[in-house]
Amino acid sequence: MNYHSRSPAELRDIRDDLRLKYRDLLAAGLTLDITRGKPAPEQLDLSNELLHLPGDDFRAPGGTDCRNYGGVNGLPELREVFAPLFGIAPENLIAEGNSSLDLMHDLTVFGLLHGPLGADRPWSAGPIKFLCPVPGYDRHFAITESYGIEMIPVPMRPDGPDVEVCAELVARDPSIKGMWLVPTYSNPSGATVSDEVARALLSMPAADDFRIYWDNAYAVHTLVDAPPEPLRVVEMAAEAGHPDRVYAFGSTSKISFAGAGVAFFGASPANLDWFRRYLSVKTIGPDKVNQLRHLRFFPDTESVRAHMARHRAILAPKFQAVLDILDDRLAGSKIASWTRPEGGYFISIDVLDGTAARTVALAKDAGIALTAAGATFPYRRDPNDENIRIAPSFPGVDELRIAMDGFATCALLAATESMLG
Ligand code: PLP
Repeated sequence: MNYHSRSPAELRDIRDDLRLKYRDLLAAGLTLDITRGKPAPEQLDLSNELLHLPGDDFRAPGGTDCRNYGGVNGLPELREVFAPLFGIAPENLIAEGNSSLDLMHDLTVFGLLHGPLGADRPWSAGPIKFLCPVPGYDRHFAITESYGIEMIPVPMRPDGPDVEVCAELVARDPSIKGMWLVPTYSNPSGATVSDEVARALLSMPAADDFRIYWDNAYAVHTLVDAPPEPLRVVEMAAEAGHPDRVYAFGSTSKISFAGAGVAFFGASPANLDWFRRYLSVKTIGPDKVNQLRHLRFFPDTESVRAHMARHRAILAPKFQAVLDILDDRLAGSKIASWTRPEGGYFISIDVLDGTAARTVALAKDAGIALTAAGATFPYRRDPNDENIRIAPSFPGVDELRIAMDGFATCALLAATESMLG
């Protein structure tokens, strides 16, 4: 069934057959959405007890009245529960509001306005750039794009970003001040950064105010029995002689409630002091009642792991359903390749060069919403027009199967059209 070894006449027959299939798809009048990596309602239900917590007892174990102002570092007991999951010592980890993206945004803006530690002037005093492993997370790119920070794509490999490319770029150009990175079960490729790659990124020569945004959004979101141990990245940065190079992030958005979880920031003591200086201008302290209810719900680190196993039981069959359909419908044609992630929220598919936008458009007309082609690249520019991010978490398995089957028809049709010219 390899399309590449078909004669033009055979390909035309295949295309005509796919056109009929596509017509049926249009007639089915679907409205399906596999765009964003949102937890499904059954996943959110796993944490419904939070809706009844903390009850009348508003004091944290240390005696803090969580109803009142203060405590800019967040509850120490909650930081202790989550610290091992992120590989960061509790004293280097602070607990804040409901969104880690919000923290990434603020750190960027504070850097632009004040200059990070080690900067001789604010980032905004001159043009600056960030490295962006691709494919990557569109909301990262939205932050840098919205503040006029130039984005330079670098290839993401199965063990992390291509270190040689990164090292060469930062050595040559001191205006490169940052790098986005999802170290565990990356969005969207599912790649996990190896110890070796992390050490190389932390030790390569770069500007003093160069920062790696280590966005560990999927630190505990495994689909397999033996998840990777979190890298102790703040300690590794110190060992590499650049203690302030890393800003680490995580949140419970895909552990408890996506819209009402707790976000964490981990960094060197000096970076934390710097951040708090500006953070305490914008807030007198985080929502400690929310933090307390999380502490009651997750009294220890093991309870978080046990909870993630329940998420896995819901998610794993959905990932399997997507992979089964891709294997069944697309493998023989050799027009596409895809990841088989061991965790995280996404499957990343490369369709035939030059056909991602067409595939997404065909699917849209058939009522199947896919993440926009190009979204996984800075400025939404996928140079090969090939990458599509699939988010299997939100729909039910039956809906997902229908959506993926429709997707496969669209990808195959777009491929045959393109090959026939
Ligand atoms: N970082 C990555 C890599 C994500 O995929 C997401 C959500 O999809 C987020 C951050 C959002 O995190 P939060 O809900 O903590 O703002």
